Amino acid sequence: MTALLLILLAALAAATVWIGRLRRQLAAARESGARERAALQRQHATALGEQQERLAAVLAQMLEALIVVDPTGRIQLANRAAAQLFGFQPPGAGRPLLEVVRHHEFAALLARLEHEPEVRDYELRLEGVVARTLNVNAVRLLDAGARTAGALFVVHDLTALRKLEGMREEFVANVSHELRTPLSLIKGAAETLLDGGKDNPETLAKFLGIIDRHASRLGLLIEDLLLLSALDSGCIELHVQTTALHATVQEVLDDFAHAAKEKGVALDNEVPATLRVRADEGRLRQVFSNLVDNAIKYGRENGRVQVGAAVLGAGWLQIFVRDDGPGIPATARERVFERFFRADKARARTQGGTGLGLAIVKNLVLAHGGEVRVESAEERGTTFFFKLPSA
Ligand code: ADP
Repeated sequence: MTALLLILLAALAAATVWIGRLRRQLAAARESGARERAALQRQHATALGEQQERLAAVLAQMLEALIVVDPTGRIQLANRAAAQLFGFQPPGAGRPLLEVVRHHEFAALLARLEHEPEVRDYELRLEGVVARTLNVNAVRLLDAGARTAGALFVVHDLTALRKLEGMREEFVANVSHELRTPLSLIKGAAETLLDGGKDNPETLAKFLGIIDRHASRLGLLIEDLLLLSALDSGCIELHVQTTALHATVQEVLDDFAHAAKEKGVALDNEVPATLRVRADEGRLRQVFSNLVDNAIKYGRENGRVQVGAAVLGAGWLQIFVRDDGPGIPATARERVFERFFRADKARARTQGGTGLGLAIVKNLVLAHGGEVRVESAEERGTTFFFKLPSA
């Protein structure tokens, strides 16, 4: 009996140990399951966070404005470009779209999306301090049950592109006009001569003179246009070398000695003999030629044109061409470097310039890494300054 009890007790003890072990194993298994689940959840959360970060980075880097609205027309998501374009504080979530974009055509687009799945390449103008031209693509969003879940707007700002197109059109119109004027004068002169004018020596000399002058002007215009186009496309090769500034300026002033004398203008080379510049000598001469030519042309009779330079420090020279003429009106000052801009159209035309001289100066100086600016006061003359690397 005792033996039986002992056996039973031993069996009970063994069973208790076994149950305890089983419990511990179960607890351990439960614990490890929980740990695995937790690890899995953490992995999911990290992946989701990374995905969200990536999406946020993509949205933030997008040049296009992107807005997602819910079916009630409230913003659910908007990127930085959208906030900048429409001038609201990002993220703007929860605000009605129309309150943010303040443009009735967006309401019309939302209404269209009720019947159409998408609206592509819709162009609209935003009036404001700066008017903007926008290209809008709108798509209806559907949920898993194919019910309308809102709309997505992707807006591309075309303002800069339209401005460039406008400039190109204006440039082509200007070029045509500038080419046509001398061409029609040449044609008119040739017709006059062919109609019998050639038989009169005086008429012959006069009209041949006209043909010669305007053919030269056409040649200059084409040369300037080709140079500007080469500068624009960056395919101009500069042979930069150490150049003695005083000597280069003197060569240019000598070229203009005759024109200056005819107008009674004194030409002063005030460049210190020691200064050396790092530049393409031929192109540098071209910069001085255009500036000195203008200073004589637009300066006053019996006036004075000075060319000077000084060390700016940090490896740069400041060079100037100054006249004591009537100056450039304030409204025209910032536009004189534009192609074909003339402060005084009638006067500039009689002077025979191409209207491209200062644009060429600016681009040549920029190609050397320098910069150019103008200072002028009415009746107190004009000074063009430009910076070039010193040698
Ligand atoms: P162009 O002389 O052939 O008309 P530019 O590009 O050289 O073309 O000059 C643009 C305009 O800037 C000129 O038409 C003139 O109105 C103005 N301008 C240039 N230089 C001077 C100057 N030194 N004084 C007054 N006006 C000037």
